[in-house]
Amino acid sequence: MGGPGSGRFGGILTDKCEDYRSVDLTWLKRKGTLDSWGWSTITWSRGGEVRSSIQVKREDCGVRFRYRARNQGDEWEDVNELMPFAYTRTNFGGRRRWFECLSCRRNCRVLYGGKYYRCRRCWGLRYKSQYEPAWARPLSKAQKIRERLGGSGSLDELFPEKPKGMHWRTYNRLKRQDDLLTDRWATMTMDWMDKLTG
Ligand SMILES: [Zn+2]
Repeated sequence: MGGPGSGRFGGILTDKCEDYRSVDLTWLKRKGTLDSWGWSTITWSRGGEVRSSIQVKREDCGVRFRYRARNQGDEWEDVNELMPFAYTRTNFGGRRRWFECLSCRRNCRVLYGGKYYRCRRCWGLRYKSQYEPAWARPLSKAQKIRERLGGSGSLDELFPEKPKGMHWRTYNRLKRQDDLLTDRWATMTMDWMDKLTG
């Protein structure tokens, strides 16, 4: 589901992920957007010029996105969608908040826009190394570790269990690497988003 060209929702697809506008739930939380209950604007600029912007507002069960969008060559449309929250339990009895992707209903931390905001999987977004922004490198390294352990490679999921036959020492080493990489990835994504949004 949701591979490139699957056509479930409109948007302009390119190979360069920096052309995607993304909204990161962790970043919204850090910015205080989730506590404010009013409209705030997220803008994306390049070369000091605002390329696009959307408005977001915290509601009871999610974050409302409001903006104008169009596919290439089409008329502008007003888009107004509630991106619902989903919750999972953490190991320590807490709960963790996610976006639920409106197309595939999977939990995700980051939504990517085209015409609509959907999860990375739905966009079939591929990180081609020649186009990788700096933060995509720790991301793809961490994904490889997770796949090696039989996980999906998604950082939205918990770190995979130790596979049978793998030494604990190896597993713990990979887990530590994953911790470092995902930390670095999160920090770099934040910096990158900060730069984009001024
Ligand atoms: Zn999705």
